[in-house]
Parts: sequence; C-alpha cells; structure tokens
Amino acid sequence: MAHRRRAGERWPNKTQDEAGPLCYALAMQIAKDAVVAINYTLKDDDGKILDTNEGKDLMHYLHGHGNIVPGLERALVGKSAGDKIEVTVSPADGYGEYDESRSFEVPKSELGPQVVPQKGAVLTMRGPNGAGMPVTILKVKMKTVVLDGNHQLAGRNLHFSVEIRRVRKAKKEELAHKHAHGPGGHAH
Ligand code: ZN
Repeated sequence: MAHRRRAGERWPNKTQDEAGPLCYALAMQIAKDAVVAINYTLKDDDGKILDTNEGKDLMHYLHGHGNIVPGLERALVGKSAGDKIEVTVSPADGYGEYDESRSFEVPKSELGPQVVPQKGAVLTMRGPNGAGMPVTILKVKMKTVVLDGNHQLAGRNLHFSVEIRRVRKAKKEELAHKHAHGPGGHAH
C-alpha cells in the first residue's frame, strides 16, 4: 500500500533543519580576475581612521592586477562573500617605505599662479610621462617650497578591516581595462 501523505505532513519525515537546505550555492573564492566588492576601514597604528567607505558605495576592485596594496590583495585570496578579515600591512607591502630622497625643492614660481603654498597641502605635479603625481608641501621658504614625492601613507603600517560582500567573475571589458566597472569601480 502506497504511503499517503496527510495534509501538513512532511515527507520524508524530516524537518527542513534536519535535512538541511536542498542546494548549496558554492561561494566563489577570491582569485585572479575576480571582481570583489568590499567594505573597508583603514586605520593607522594609533587606531585613527585614515580611510573608509562606510556610508558610501561598496568598493569594487579587480583582483590580481595591483589595484589595491599588495599586502591586502594577498590577504584576500581564497576568501568569499560574507568573510571578514583584519590585516596589518607593513609599509613594504603597502605604499612603500618612506624615502628621504624623494623630497625636492622647487622655486615658488613653478607652482602655477593659483597655488598658495601651505605646509601639508597636496598638489598634483605633472610627472615626466604626463601623468599627475601627488606631492605634499613639506616646507615653505622665501622663494622656494620643499615638496615630498612619497605617497602620503608611505612608511606607515596599514590596519585594514575588510568585509567581503560580493565576488564575481570579471567581464571581458574589465579585464581589458584592468579595473572593475560599475558603482564603486570605474565609471566611464
Ligand atoms: Zn574601464
């Protein structure tokens, strides 16, 4: 005689919890050519927040193409959506060691008429290949300014808290451009 279900009876006679879900979606892991969406907060050694995307769009980046600092990129390998990591990145794996030789002095007249030189201000200089290079004003003298070509975070330990929100395959166009597209990525 065939088993007949009474109304409301589950068959097989197990609750969903005992049986587990019917399907598992395999979470995609972070590897080269994945587009990864993260929330992040970056702090210095004193716990001061240097940068965060909290309250803004998720940050999207293309993994494995040097779009984020090497130490963080390495720590994210193999992680998937829902994972959270805390990682401390040394200067060598971050924005580089502080290099004294990257400061130089230029006449104020070279700064362009609209620039009022102030200590700590960040300017964009035209580099040798035409690309913009950020420099920080270290010192303002009578006729010259001392500029610092180090990245502002050079020589600093970087303490990252990162929550991985989404991991997907990159589109062809993103691979060709070597960066992620869409909100939180490149918009163009
Ligand atoms: Zn692009």
